[in-house]
Amino acid sequence: MDSLTIGSHISSAKGYEAMGKTAVSMDADTFAFFTRNPRGGKAKEIKPQDVEKYKEIAQRYHFGKIVAHAPYTMNACAAKEDLREFAKNTMKDDLERMEYIPGNYYNLHPGSHVGQGAQTGIVKIAEILNQVLDPKWGTTVLLETMAGKGTEVGKTFEELRQIMDLTECKERLGVCLDTCHVWDGGYDIVHDLDGVVQEFDRVIGLEHLKAIHLNDSQNLMGSHKDRHAKIGEGQIGLEALSAVTRHPAFRHLPFILETPNDEAGWAQEIRILRERAAS
Ligand code: FE
Ligand code: FE
Ligand code: ZN
Repeated sequence: MDSLTIGSHISSAKGYEAMGKTAVSMDADTFAFFTRNPRGGKAKEIKPQDVEKYKEIAQRYHFGKIVAHAPYTMNACAAKEDLREFAKNTMKDDLERMEYIPGNYYNLHPGSHVGQGAQTGIVKIAEILNQVLDPKWGTTVLLETMAGKGTEVGKTFEELRQIMDLTECKERLGVCLDTCHVWDGGYDIVHDLDGVVQEFDRVIGLEHLKAIHLNDSQNLMGSHKDRHAKIGEGQIGLEALSAVTRHPAFRHLPFILETPNDEAGWAQEIRILRERAAS
């Protein structure tokens, strides 16, 4: 018996029941999906019947928590106020829609400061979170660790900690660690996973870590590139990524593959990682 909770990013185009079936077909027991077109735009209408069918599947196959992903176009620390307004409204709308499936996660990229400086970015992000987060939501919002491409905020554990410190509704806020991003950000999860885990615990606190994006990276540690690779085909490698799934600090969390793959490829990655986690 292995206890790994793992799945991949799945297209939400055909609705919830279809996502559940796709997950089952890949032997996944969690998954991620975009709440709307990743480039923005209006979200599709949710059909309660479709959600009910999904819930039956999730229960029957003992799914863990699933991890919705906010659109990439959301920038809570944009220089232009109308873009921040868009980010706020999108977040609120998504959280309202997530109420159909309460108890899960909503993952977002904190934002890009576009030259205003990380400190200004951090304050602006927390400001939006304070306008959106509310104990009434059944969803926990996860800030993703970022690679530091361009002017991304959240490339260090310290930056995420600062956002969290400025956020009032802490019970609805957590962190999602992306293995490609932290590697690209300069955290050596290949040679010193324990050290990175300790650093995360010291700066943020492991109790705030809620999900893992499990990706290999095309680039070297500290490259700040954010180019995902298939598991075992990048610079991190299968050995180190498998160690992430087995680490006592992580192994109870949902693992989401965001590798450049198709369903057959994800099914294979899931099989390999499950085998390694069990042995
Ligand atoms: Fe992401
Ligand atoms: Fe990610
Ligand atoms: Zn990425």
